[in-house]
Amino acid sequence: MAGKGLPKVTSGRRDPIPGLLLVLGLIPLFLTCSPRSSPTNIVIITIDTLRADHLGMYGYFRETSPFLDAFAEECVWFQNCFAPMATTLPSHLSLLTGVYPLEHGVMGNVQDGGRPYIPSPLLRSLPEAAQLSGFETAAFISAVPLKSHSGIQSGFDLFDEPDGAERRAGMTNLAVFQWLEARGAGPYLLWVHYFDPHSPYDAPPAYRSLFPSDDRSSEYMDERRFTEKAVTGNGRVSSAVETMNDYDREVRYVDDSFGALMERLRAEPDWGSTIVIVAGDHGEGLGQHREWHHGLCWEEHLRVPLLIRIPGRPAGRSKKLVSLVDVLPTVLGSTVGIQSGRLMEQASGFDMFAEPIDRFIVGQSSKRRVSGENPYGVLSIRTEDWKLIYRSSGKNGLFHIPSDPYELRNVVFDRPEVVKRLSSMLLGHIENQTRKAGEFRVGGDVTEPDTLDADARRDLRGLGYAN
Ligand SMILES: [Zn+2]
Repeated sequence: MAGKGLPKVTSGRRDPIPGLLLVLGLIPLFLTCSPRSSPTNIVIITIDTLRADHLGMYGYFRETSPFLDAFAEECVWFQNCFAPMATTLPSHLSLLTGVYPLEHGVMGNVQDGGRPYIPSPLLRSLPEAAQLSGFETAAFISAVPLKSHSGIQSGFDLFDEPDGAERRAGMTNLAVFQWLEARGAGPYLLWVHYFDPHSPYDAPPAYRSLFPSDDRSSEYMDERRFTEKAVTGNGRVSSAVETMNDYDREVRYVDDSFGALMERLRAEPDWGSTIVIVAGDHGEGLGQHREWHHGLCWEEHLRVPLLIRIPGRPAGRSKKLVSLVDVLPTVLGSTVGIQSGRLMEQASGFDMFAEPIDRFIVGQSSKRRVSGENPYGVLSIRTEDWKLIYRSSGKNGLFHIPSDPYELRNVVFDRPEVVKRLSSMLLGHIENQTRKAGEFRVGGDVTEPDTLDADARRDLRGLGYAN
């Protein structure tokens, strides 16, 4: 059971937030913070489309991430963190609710057949709990999949979004800085979302001469067997290596913006009691496995960076297998002042700092990648040693990760006993998720009426999401 044995922040009441008070938006008196210690601020920084292996701390050969690498030295950073789905809205919702996409019911971005997030009496997000606990809550998002048609704004006093399809990290930072200047003296939850590494890859001009092709870029792509095929984008045809160079320039730009944000946050008087979580929402194919973008279950789609800074906790690297669904229970286990109600019981993830965690990682393809042959699309299960990619068509893949980290040698016919064991674990997990979705009464994979207006549709077409 997720969250078992974790420190309780509440006084033992099972659900201290009655539904009527939720509806009325009132803050009950029993939600006030403990007088014994100061509340902890929470800063969540998500960087869209950031594959872990393109950052210095994860062993990349280019200097794409000096600020993230430096910040990692004061964090616990997770070498093996995975998104539950390589799609923006479902992945972010899993981070904020601690449950899998099948459980919160959002199986794709709204424009790709996903439905908006709808809280239920048994399903709430961390921002909703923080708001009810008296935290000032603010979100600054940078692109259309997370704009307020998505429902993810629930629980935020301020939800700041771009006018058009997206905005650069520097513009998002300006809005964040204004808010920090004006915020009150109480505890806060701040979410900052950057979008720059997402396609189209068009870093500001000052970055465009960085990272030219060289022997090391060829070596990197050869050992992962990137496609040689060219891709059309930004009004031109690019080879795989040019595409990767452009992507890396965006990563370096967003890293610089992250550095500027951290400098500003460090100047806050309550920095000493501020938790910071930095995560990618999913990776990017860039031509690996013949996939340019994301939405499937390959490692380069699902493996994301995760850094957690908790004041007083020793920094270091963790090799544990963790998922973005673990962020919520981990934050609740280390935060003072959030009255979590039944959020711990809701969560499917684990407190990453609880010992030991014997777990496997489950992934699922985005709704837009469902072919019709499988109602769940493509599923994956990952242990320390093995990764099974499951398709109902029978074209399954089994990879021995320690000897084949880039998933190049399918051994599904050589190890039937492993396939059988992992399939059983995976399907049992999916059954549990389906049952929880019923408990949350979110209806699982339910398509709601389209809530996108014409402007949003145009913005999405510009990003290449919709046809
Ligand atoms: Zn995304």
